[in-house]
Amino acid sequence: MASHPDRRAIPSQIAEIVSRRHRAEGVDLLCGIKIAGIEELPGELRITLAGGHMIAADLLVIGIGAAPNTGLAEAAGLAIENGIAVDSYLRTSDPDIFAAGDCCSYPLSLYGGRRVRLESWRNAHEQGTLAAANMMGCQEQITAVRWFWSDQYDLTLQIAGLAEGAVTQVRRDMEAGALILFNLDPEGRLIAASGIGPGNAVCPRHPPG
Ligand SMILES: Cc1cc2nc3c(=O)[nH]c(=O)nc-3n(C[C@H](O)[C@H](O)[C@H](O)COP(=O)(O)OP(=O)(O)OC[C@H]3O[C@@H](n4cnc5c(N)ncnc54)[C@H](O)[C@@H]3O)c2cc1C
Repeated sequence: MASHPDRRAIPSQIAEIVSRRHRAEGVDLLCGIKIAGIEELPGELRITLAGGHMIAADLLVIGIGAAPNTGLAEAAGLAIENGIAVDSYLRTSDPDIFAAGDCCSYPLSLYGGRRVRLESWRNAHEQGTLAAANMMGCQEQITAVRWFWSDQYDLTLQIAGLAEGAVTQVRRDMEAGALILFNLDPEGRLIAASGIGPGNAVCPRHPPG
């Protein structure tokens, strides 16, 4: 339904590049449109789009988001706020219970204590380590900036920080058609950056010059 794939996670300029790349490989991307109905006929699935257009398919894969599985935490009486609510030590509302990964929301001090819930491999990995350390009495707070990457064909996408609240965007074009967008808050503070380019073009190990 959105104007580009991945719009929840990446800026529109980069989403457009990703869309173009998929189309160049022959992927038929239909954006900004709703599915009105799905019909199962003998040997065929028929998808009807809003507006009446029909698509026949052998197989349908539906990927429309993920929801945290909080049933067990709810039954245990833990506070829930877009996932299991934890503090900056990954402690739940019961100080003897910790939570980590996709299922929990936590306050990010770098972003004024804003509560976020992230769905990324690196976040789950780092939080698991931190929760275990804190269970052992380490008293370490979560300070990591959200970061993830993805490969789309030959393009590598890199996203760091949270761009909501940014008022200025600075664009830097790099070699090989790569680009980085820097997002600044009203005080000119860098709060997020996102880049895309072939291979390691966005993060060269040895930057030119
Ligand atoms: C299609 C897809 C593509 C992805 N691509 C990327 C990517 O490119 N890069 C990236 O960084 N991340 C990606 N992710 C996200 C990444 O997989 C998750 O962020 C990561 O797996 C989260 O780890 P986790 O341990 O928090 O949760 P999970 O891996 O979901 O593990 C939770 C486990 O808890 C179990 N569980 C749930 N409830 C209970 C219960 N009551 N009792 C016992 N067990 C329970 C579940 O069965 C599951 O095994 C992708 C996810 C999907 C679905």
